[in-house]
Amino acid sequence: MTRPTVLMPARMHDVVVDGCAERFELVRLWEATDPDALLAERGADVRGLATGGHHPVDAALLDKLPNLQIVANFGVGYDSVDVDAATERGVVVTNTPGVLDDEVADTALALLLMTVRELGQAERYLRAGRWAAEGHYPLTDLTMTGRKLGILGLGRIGEAIAKRAETFRMTVGYHNRSEKDVPYRYYPSLLEMARDVDTLLVVVPGSAATRHLVDAEVLEALGPDGVLVNIGRGTVVDEAALIGALKTRTIRAAGLDVYEDEPNVPRELIDLDNAVLLPHVGSASKPTRRAMGRLVVDNLTSWFTDGRALTPVNG
Ligand code: NDP
Repeated sequence: MTRPTVLMPARMHDVVVDGCAERFELVRLWEATDPDALLAERGADVRGLATGGHHPVDAALLDKLPNLQIVANFGVGYDSVDVDAATERGVVVTNTPGVLDDEVADTALALLLMTVRELGQAERYLRAGRWAAEGHYPLTDLTMTGRKLGILGLGRIGEAIAKRAETFRMTVGYHNRSEKDVPYRYYPSLLEMARDVDTLLVVVPGSAATRHLVDAEVLEALGPDGVLVNIGRGTVVDEAALIGALKTRTIRAAGLDVYEDEPNVPRELIDLDNAVLLPHVGSASKPTRRAMGRLVVDNLTSWFTDGRALTPVNG
């Protein structure tokens, strides 16, 4: 039996490259000297596509792959894939949910702790020799215990964050489009939640519907002791409004793992002392990335052997 042809536009984790090369005929577009010519020559053979989000999977690319059946995305967020265009063409799209929840939740709590307790700034103080020269790092204004946390996007990762936040003795509420059967207060309105909490943690997917949900009004509602943490997608927060709110101390501080135009982070944000900035490392440990890679390969394998995707996001 001929092996299904799988296209990989950009290089992915070794687990995916090796797993695909073992089971399928792998077309490595990133190695081609003329990618357009390779697509024109091999496009009709391609039945599967593996992507890590660094290369947009849009209608223009899908049109070059008339026999494509499945797009397997590395990552639970699949905003670089035009799912509507895929669905119109009868193409199933899969992601990697579940295997990264704990890692991302751990990172979110670490980012929150760093932001509230100024841990990054304190470490830089020591490394600059200022402890010995100037004495103790100043006491932080804020503390974790008793903070009121509002989670925007109480899904798989949001729930893992909520459980951790409870052990930090924070009160937890959330805003989704629909209420869930969970022991946390539901806010039908994001603005209403922002008015009621002092800590807003963003973990919704990036999409047209979530773009700039966190705007100047929501930030102002958080108040002067307000802390924003974004581990979801950069597009959910109006970055210019956030920079303004941090500069004017409309909110106290922000901890960010994601940005509107990655990997470009505005100089203004980098220069702010009340922002903790991580380079999109939410799920970035070797064990978790291996588990994500295995799920990409398993989705493709299951589709081509049983006609069933393990974790589809459409259909
Ligand atoms: P889930 O699908 O399990 O949860 C998403 C939640 O967001 C749901 O509860 C959903 O509830 C809510 N939601 C979706 N759209 C809206 C909206 N328009 N308004 C309000 N709430 C909304 O996803 P995961 O928890 O698995 O992942 C969440 C996101 O985290 C990913 O999509 C990704 O962007 C990001 N992520 C970031 C990582 C990083 O490295 N920083 C790593 C992994 C994920 P409802 O449908 O009821 O609205």
